[in-house]
Amino acid sequence: MEVRNFVNGVLETTVRTLDNVTPGTGEVYGTIPRSGPEEVNRAVAAAKRAFPAWSSTPAAERAACLERLADAVRDNAPLLAEAEARDNGKPVSLAAHVDIPRAEKNLRFYASGIQHFASQSHAMEGEAINYTLRKPLGVVACISPWNLPLYLFTWKVAPALAAGNCVVAKPSELTPATAYLLSTWVEEAGFPPGVFNVLHGLGPEVGEAMVTHDDIAAVSFTGGTQTGARIAGHVAPKFKKMSLELGGKNPAIVFADADFDEALRTTLRSSFANQGQICLCGSRILVERSIYDAFRDALVAKASKMVAGDPLDLATKMGAVVSESHMSKILSCIERARDEGGSVLCGGNRVFPKGGENGFFVAPTVIEGLGPNCATNQEEIFGPVVTLQAFDTEEEALALANNTVYGLAATLWTTDLKRAHRVAAKIDSGIVWVNTWLLRDLRTPFGGVKASGLGREGGFEALEFFTEPQNICIQL
Ligand code: NAD
Repeated sequence: MEVRNFVNGVLETTVRTLDNVTPGTGEVYGTIPRSGPEEVNRAVAAAKRAFPAWSSTPAAERAACLERLADAVRDNAPLLAEAEARDNGKPVSLAAHVDIPRAEKNLRFYASGIQHFASQSHAMEGEAINYTLRKPLGVVACISPWNLPLYLFTWKVAPALAAGNCVVAKPSELTPATAYLLSTWVEEAGFPPGVFNVLHGLGPEVGEAMVTHDDIAAVSFTGGTQTGARIAGHVAPKFKKMSLELGGKNPAIVFADADFDEALRTTLRSSFANQGQICLCGSRILVERSIYDAFRDALVAKASKMVAGDPLDLATKMGAVVSESHMSKILSCIERARDEGGSVLCGGNRVFPKGGENGFFVAPTVIEGLGPNCATNQEEIFGPVVTLQAFDTEEEALALANNTVYGLAATLWTTDLKRAHRVAAKIDSGIVWVNTWLLRDLRTPFGGVKASGLGREGGFEALEFFTEPQNICIQL
């Protein structure tokens, strides 16, 4: 696939390119543009020109463009699912059931959301009336990662466009395919030229040129914590708005009174779904000591049976990790866990499925015997690697759960209702799931605390981010 930039309503011819590799076989299967400041300048200028008309287009008409784009996603769902699996290494069944339907939903959700978005009015008895206008910001930058490519790309551009902003968006250079396909349907969906631009290339080149551009009013970023800190360093001194969704080291706490089978089944999923490459995956599993051995043995038995295979095969449940360098990083983290004294109970190695001998596959890995402060239990690995730790009391479980610089999500397994409320409120994270995982209502605030980020996405939170409130006070 030859990926192209989409600027000012035109799919551009690419001059400089990068190779695009498919993780299932390790082969180069296409090219992507290697964009830089020049492309960013053109895209931002086009977006700036388009802003006055787009921001004064009625919300219902902007919503109709988003709905038509959602229709294109629906009509091309099998093509998109296959493109996602080939580009990212995830099982095509996962892309077909999760990524692509969710991308369609994101577009429809904000098409509807903007038409229900209201602002406040404050009456000063007999004296004055205040009302708040929520004005679009101008040209905004949306930068997304490779783990849920179209899912997270649309999660940002949909509220930005719905709120009346013009967008310059960049998917990860590792997984550009589905954002490119989406860009080929933007014109047909009715977006005027310049409203929605999509650039491709390396983060430090095109991404950095986007966030440092003076005409970019706000940056919405999802990715690694280090990248987020670098972006904040550029954006904060210019007082631009920013929303940062960053890494995690999420705890899954299993109390002895939990529904054992349900906790086990879901913990397997929260550990290894998408090869463990979801920011919400639980990577530190904390189990009450009285059920620790039974839970560990059952988890290891199930994880050992998960066989990695061709991402494009409908039967595959476990695909490849995103790149060779990411695979090497994951394998070196497992080596480090061994050096720290951890016992690798299953997995721990690269695997070579038939036909994918040069692909990037890592076996599901469960490690025990490590203390809470070692690097393995502190640093994000972002692969199919989890650790197990035992605890004796609720206080100890909480202390272990909160013993991290991150604070994105936590999962809690208990049938004691009082404990569920008590413990959930004491966990330092933006999201807590009780007796479930990854159950998402798009109206809820989504994001993390501490090193997991700044600000919230989801529901009206995203529309608030992508608008500036202005108070108007009228004396009566
Ligand atoms: P990354 O930080 O390497 O890249 C993310 C995006 O930023 C990519 O598009 C990349 O090209 C771009 N980028 C890189 N350097 C840049 C720079 N200097 N300036 C501007 N843009 C730049 O992250 P990744 O490896 O693609 O994604 C994995 C990370 O994302 C993990 O840490 C994961 O936890 C995190 N993540 C967080 C969430 C969340 O909602 N909190 C969701 C998914 C992934």
